[in-house]
Amino acid sequence: MPDATNEDILNVEKGIFEAGAISKMLDEKLSLLDIAKKVTGDKNIKVIEDCKIPVYKCDCSKEKMENALIAIGKTELEKIIKEDGKAELVCHFCNKKYEFNKEELEKLLER
Ligand SMILES: [Zn+2]
Repeated sequence: MPDATNEDILNVEKGIFEAGAISKMLDEKLSLLDIAKKVTGDKNIKVIEDCKIPVYKCDCSKEKMENALIAIGKTELEKIIKEDGKAELVCHFCNKKYEFNKEELEKLLER
C-alpha cells in the first residue's frame, strides 16, 4: 500500500491487535515488516525510513495496567502490598514496564 497514510496503518494495527494474532507472530520472531506483509498481503511494503512512529504501536497505558491489577482481586492485591510493597507489570505486547509503588497500590484497593 504505497499511499498508506498513518491512519491506514493504524487501522491495520487495530485489526491485528483485535484478532490477537500479533502476539503469536511476535512469538514466531517475525519482524514488524514481515508481520505487515502478512497482514496486508503486500509483499512490496516498505517501512517508511523517516517515520519515527513504530509500525506497531501498542495502546497500553498505566490505566489499563491499573485495571488489570484491580481485576486480580483485593486479596491478591493486599498480598502484593504486604509481600513486595510494589508491583511491576510488563505489557505483553510492547514490553513496556509499568511500576506501581505501595501508595499507588493502596489507592487501587480503595476503588
Ligand atoms: Zn503495550
